[in-house]
Amino acid sequence: PVVTRFAPSPTGFLHIGGARTALFNWLYARGRGGKFLLRIEDTDRARSTPEATAAILQGMGWLGLDHDGEIVSQFENAPRHGAVAHELLAAGKAYKCFASQEEIATFREQARAAGQNTLYRSPWRDAAPATHPDAPFVIRIKAPQTGQTIIRDRVQGDVTIRNDQLDDMVLLRSDGTPVYMLAVVVDDHDMGVTHVIRGDDHLNNAARQMMIYEAMGWEVPVWAHIPLIHGPDGKKLSKRHGALGAQEYQAMGYPAAGMRNYLARLGWSHGDDEFFSDAQAKDWFDLSGIGKSPARFDVKKLENLSGQHIAQADDAALQHEIVAYLEASGQAPLSQAQSDMLLRAMPCVKERAKTLPELLEKAHFALTTRPVEQDEKAARHLDTVSRGMLRELTPHLQTDSWGKENLENVLNRFAQSKDTKFGKLAGPLRAALSGRAATPSVFDMMLVLGQQETLARLSDAAE
Ligand code: GLU
Repeated sequence: PVVTRFAPSPTGFLHIGGARTALFNWLYARGRGGKFLLRIEDTDRARSTPEATAAILQGMGWLGLDHDGEIVSQFENAPRHGAVAHELLAAGKAYKCFASQEEIATFREQARAAGQNTLYRSPWRDAAPATHPDAPFVIRIKAPQTGQTIIRDRVQGDVTIRNDQLDDMVLLRSDGTPVYMLAVVVDDHDMGVTHVIRGDDHLNNAARQMMIYEAMGWEVPVWAHIPLIHGPDGKKLSKRHGALGAQEYQAMGYPAAGMRNYLARLGWSHGDDEFFSDAQAKDWFDLSGIGKSPARFDVKKLENLSGQHIAQADDAALQHEIVAYLEASGQAPLSQAQSDMLLRAMPCVKERAKTLPELLEKAHFALTTRPVEQDEKAARHLDTVSRGMLRELTPHLQTDSWGKENLENVLNRFAQSKDTKFGKLAGPLRAALSGRAATPSVFDMMLVLGQQETLARLSDAAE
């Protein structure tokens, strides 16, 4: 069975690159009936904060990236990491190194002066197992010194590293704390991780991590190191390119489904498919579709996919998403009445809205209450002439049948009788009903508002 994991370091928010890594692991597991685990890599005590963990969980929650099982804290596993280092020591695959920092520095200087490889070679590697009860020591792995290590990466292909480029990495520091590289391998093994999908900034680590797998006789997981995300200018994504945090995208009002779709396409492709559902993504996602070159972040594409997901969303689900968006962006929540009206208006406002705030702007007519406040552009449509026209129109709308067809007939006939086009009526009507110049169709607004409210708003505006 497939087991993937997301292993963020809790030193900041969930950034776009991390969200994509989490998504890829989630899709890979969910599409194969596997498990998707979450490990918080909190061994750096100075930089890890509970706030960062909370922010990462919030971002994953927004994106719907649910994980299986308990959240693993890497720091809490430190005793187990230490035990593995001692196991390797007992098996003769690691050794105690008593060299001081000064001795190591001297070794490097001499090697540099002699034009030799400056990787530290400890004299303790081949010394008889030494015991210096009081002297501090680190535990180093006995790295292979000849031949090569091949990382069989599913994205990068075979990556070969000459073993004379690997040093006897420290596993356990002199204070007994495990190094990060050991912690990752032990945790991945203990969690049963079968596939490691992560940023290619970890590719070099893979070579060193393989030494530990091999020394322990553990099965090496499938590696897939994915290229980092670049900005539209081809440079590494940074603050300069705009928002970096998943939460910021939530606050900008992108729906989670649109964001997932967009992130999935960021470095992975399935033929020419751009717009797809979660079910399709789970079905299609595989490692062979991941590209070798960095993906470029493209806001236009995000907006486009986001708009398509909004248009296709289930109305009630979209309503929930809007409630969460308002909260995430620090805006006032909807009242019960607004909530009901929004749901009624949904079919006519969710088309052609690229983001949730755009949708809310279209839905302004349904969310506002009398007296409707006119913005500047709308106010211009309500001059004396058009107010007179609205007054004259009102009796024609005292009709028994409040259906689209009848309303169209009434308005068209009225326009004809005034020797004008319906278009001339539309501006004042939009203004009267919504206080805005750009709105959904006048008929849609009338149907959503209902006869009584429509007449009341027209009479307000005609005054
Ligand atoms: N904690 C690492 C990071 O946030 C990920 C390590 C891994 O995936 O192996 O970059």
